[in-house]
Amino acid sequence: MRALGEKEIRASFVNCSKGETRRLSLPADFTGTPWSDLDFLGWRDPKAPDRGYAVTERDGELVGIALRASTGARRSALKSSICSVCVTPQAGSGITLLVAPRAGEAGRQGNTVGLYICADLACSLYVRGKKQSALARRFEESLTLEEQNERTTRNLNGFLDQVLGQA
Ligand SMILES: [Zn+2]
Repeated sequence: MRALGEKEIRASFVNCSKGETRRLSLPADFTGTPWSDLDFLGWRDPKAPDRGYAVTERDGELVGIALRASTGARRSALKSSICSVCVTPQAGSGITLLVAPRAGEAGRQGNTVGLYICADLACSLYVRGKKQSALARRFEESLTLEEQNERTTRNLNGFLDQVLGQA
């Protein structure tokens, strides 16, 4: 993806208040972000580790979503050890259930959607082999890297549809 500036990132969020958008922390090493290796920008809040964020471009517009670690789900109840976005298998806490408030009125009423995702939201880097899962190698895939990257984007977009109430 193209390199993004702090201002446009903060302006992209669709499911949190302006106050939350102002307060959120950018990735710890924001200036070192490997943009060309990213299908979307995902990170955990360095100052509030139960929070995570994903920002992606779709139809020419930036869409950011705020996520939070699900407090209800204990690790023992974790149902998946495979990321639903990038399909990387991870050990134990490598996959986490994050929930996003829905955009608009539904979210204000407490409606959320959940997502099993790599805990550090670095999906793009696992697919490209720039980061290794603690557990295992990725599956041997018959898809090309480009096709896998498209799948990451497609899966994330499917989740965005749910957050935006378009699913
Ligand atoms: Zn992932």
